[in-house]
Amino acid sequence: MRDVIIIGGGPAGSTLARLIGKDFNVLLIDKKSSDESKTSFKKPCGGLIAPDAQRALARFQLQIPTDVLANPQIFAVKTIDLQSRLITHYQRFYLNVNRYRFDRWLQSLVGDADIIEDARVTTIKKLNDNYQVTYVKDGIEQVEHARMIVGADGADSIVRKTFFNRKIRQYMAIQQFFNASDIKPLYASLFDHTLTDSYGWGLVKDGELIFGAALPLQNSRKIFEVLKDRSAVHSFDFSNPLNTEACLVNSPRSIREIECGSDHVFLIGEAAGFISPSSLEGISYAMDSALALAQAMKKKNVIKYYKVKCGKIKMKILLKQLKSIVLYTPILRKLVMLSKLDSINLVE
Ligand SMILES: Cc1cc2nc3c(=O)[nH]c(=O)nc-3n(C[C@H](O)[C@H](O)[C@H](O)COP(=O)(O)OP(=O)(O)OC[C@H]3O[C@@H](n4cnc5c(N)ncnc54)[C@H](O)[C@@H]3O)c2cc1C
Repeated sequence: MRDVIIIGGGPAGSTLARLIGKDFNVLLIDKKSSDESKTSFKKPCGGLIAPDAQRALARFQLQIPTDVLANPQIFAVKTIDLQSRLITHYQRFYLNVNRYRFDRWLQSLVGDADIIEDARVTTIKKLNDNYQVTYVKDGIEQVEHARMIVGADGADSIVRKTFFNRKIRQYMAIQQFFNASDIKPLYASLFDHTLTDSYGWGLVKDGELIFGAALPLQNSRKIFEVLKDRSAVHSFDFSNPLNTEACLVNSPRSIREIECGSDHVFLIGEAAGFISPSSLEGISYAMDSALALAQAMKKKNVIKYYKVKCGKIKMKILLKQLKSIVLYTPILRKLVMLSKLDSINLVE
């Protein structure tokens, strides 16, 4: 029997496995495969490493290898309000990465835990004094047992759905890829409150334009097409679609929607609800909450200590909630954009 089974090998799961692998008998189960061309799962993501995520990496003394970086790097965001037609540019400090390779790199740093990749967890059951995890690999159902379970399995977490019924606000994130060889590199964020109370984005990565948005769960595909129609005037070329991906994305309306866990089942990263409701930046929260749980696992009362540690992360989300009120209230956003506060003027 294992001490810990971590379900999900994204930034949260891989970080936790790296941090606790020496002290516990850990198994990490992840859907992704090590072969990029064959993997049945790639996390839909903008792949922008924000300053908070850079800070988390810095604390771990990690440096991103250049083969994880994407082309080009980005220094500004073009903010487009499709209703008021205002456009403002702001300086930004993101690293543009290939998200699949970023996840694989974090996973490669896990030294002391066992990893089963290309495997999907289908059920988790509480038995008398342990948990039974069933997963499917190569079409064959297999079983493992552990004293503790960690749900690091993202927005559509099977761990959260199995053990907790705390609701969290969710959007359908849709991203479409286009040939961008002729497009001037850009990073844009788009707002249209008649379509979504979250936002859309467009960015160029390794010769492709990624156009995406977080949309209401109902009629998301239709709304996405309307957003594309309305955005086309802003020099997006949607003529050569290459592929489309979609997944749920969490966006806590209040910190009460965050679930850290109970008993011997813990949630980290987006599964817990740790993600910025204003920008949907989640990579820093994934790593920070993994660190919090790793530190808590050194204590006797893990859940109590983890909840205390999560207090700081929740406070950060609370501040992002205040920011999202300004960002997503049309009149407030308009005032901020008109004020040109903190904006940059482009030199043509
Ligand atoms: C479209 C989109 C764009 C985004 N852009 C950005 C961005 O640019 N920058 C940023 O910081 N954040 C971004 N985010 C948010 C960010 O991607 C997540 O918050 C972050 O990845 C959360 O990390 P995590 O490790 O908690 O979960 P995930 O990264 O979601 O990882 C979960 C892992 O669990 C595995 N898994 C799930 N279910 C199972 C199962 N049943 N069995 C086995 N394995 C399973 C998956 O393989 C996956 O690797 C974006 C989100 C979306 C949807």
